[in-house]
Amino acid sequence: MDAFKKPLFKKEDSSALSPVQGPQPKILLVASEIYPFAKTGGLADVVGALPLALIKLGCEVALIMPKYKSVSPEKYRLKYEINGLSVPMGMGDMSADVLSTRLGDTQIKVYFVQCDRYFDRDGLYGTPEGDYHDNAERFAFFCRSSLELLRALDWYPDVIHLNDWQTGLIPAYLKTLYADQKAYQKIKTLFTIHNMAYQGLFPKYVLPMTGLRWEEFKQEKLEFYDQVNYLKAGLVYSDAINTVSPTYAAEIKTDEFGQGLQGVLNIRSEDLHGILNGIDYEEWNPSTDKEIPAQYTVKNHDRKIESKVKLLNEMGLEFKAKTPVIGLVSRLSDQKGFDLISEIIEPFLAMDVQLVVLGTGDARYHEMFQALQQRFPKKLAVNLKYDNRLAKLIYAGSDMFLMPSRFEPCGLGQMIAMKYGSIPLVRKTGGLSDTVENLSLEGKKGTGFVFENYQSEDLLFIIRRAVEAFGQPKIWKELVQRAMTKDFSWTASARQYLELYGYIRRK
Ligand code: ADP
Repeated sequence: MDAFKKPLFKKEDSSALSPVQGPQPKILLVASEIYPFAKTGGLADVVGALPLALIKLGCEVALIMPKYKSVSPEKYRLKYEINGLSVPMGMGDMSADVLSTRLGDTQIKVYFVQCDRYFDRDGLYGTPEGDYHDNAERFAFFCRSSLELLRALDWYPDVIHLNDWQTGLIPAYLKTLYADQKAYQKIKTLFTIHNMAYQGLFPKYVLPMTGLRWEEFKQEKLEFYDQVNYLKAGLVYSDAINTVSPTYAAEIKTDEFGQGLQGVLNIRSEDLHGILNGIDYEEWNPSTDKEIPAQYTVKNHDRKIESKVKLLNEMGLEFKAKTPVIGLVSRLSDQKGFDLISEIIEPFLAMDVQLVVLGTGDARYHEMFQALQQRFPKKLAVNLKYDNRLAKLIYAGSDMFLMPSRFEPCGLGQMIAMKYGSIPLVRKTGGLSDTVENLSLEGKKGTGFVFENYQSEDLLFIIRRAVEAFGQPKIWKELVQRAMTKDFSWTASARQYLELYGYIRRK
């Protein structure tokens, strides 16, 4: 699908980022997680990396996220910026403190909304047993605080770039409660969908708490089957929408992928764009990665073997050079295709392979992988935790990377895996379809193994094909080299965002 229907940008070369001519917009990114401060998935990586590319293009950028318990004030040298920011909510005025720091070694300001009642908890959104019961309140408060913070700073961006349902009320507030406030009137909004499956769906009795009026509780606004839907608010009230790959942008307009919101997305089709996420190669790079025992580039990728030895050693599995190690690093959720893996686990692990799993998420998948670990102790190592160091060792130490997602808005795992020379085994959906090319029959083209139908036999088929190809050193070596040289840096994507910001401002 064409990412932009309007003539927004020319195809960019992927040369290094350099400032674009003319004054660039002031951008505020608001998100519920930003790497390195807090992360549960790709959202954090994206919001942590895009600003770095935008400032290289000459933009002024600031960020806002909640101050969770896990965000260490010492480690990130947080400073108090505002004490007692008054936040008007439907149930009366509340108060937030605002802390700040800089993103990495840049000048980009990151603001943290602190309110212990909502954010001083172990999780970001809930526990393995389920979501926090007051998420509607937590994120309405976060949205409202973000807008009030601008007034307190007397800094108004040209575009507020929102991300996922946690920020969905911001465009709704701007178009209603703030509509007659001059300082806010010029602000435009872009809403990025990182995943349609998480919508922030709440009983309608939460509406008065948000401060919004009942006239917003309509089918063409934020009502969804008699409930309040924060994601829908983001889609309806924002000036433009995008999602994180061109294929997913097309898919979500269909009944299969739209998660009930395909109608809204079809209505807003003209304003719906697809921009592929990039990867921050300063963070994800086997040539500089300190977490792996031997750094390597495409020229000496045989040094991956040192990571493989270390990984298997740590996992308590025997090292055998000719046996492919398959890595899996993922949130454990229905989206990621674990039902397919469980259906084929017997014939899969009967092959000469070893599987290393790292993930956390739904309790049922924790149980599933624990049970499989008991059954296949010599073939499978399961790590049910969140561990960035181990993730990197798996990307570097595995030969293949398994990602048979049911749907995948963009997916970073497969792109990171390619950079580390671990060949992705993926389903042809969303961003996986835009980034991984199936190995051609004669073995001369392609960067991975791709199956189309969400069926376990089809997954098993490509695993067999991959294992066979692994046994052919020349084909495998060239495959690894092609995968490692693919460029998924932010260069092109950041320019597309800049084009989109410009287009929204002119609208
Ligand atoms: P999603 O955003 O749906 O979770 P992505 O593939 O876009 O999936 O991004 C996942 C990111 O989270 C990747 O950077 C991956 O390495 C990381 N990740 C997922 N699970 C874990 C884990 N258990 N430990 C460390 N990193 C993880």
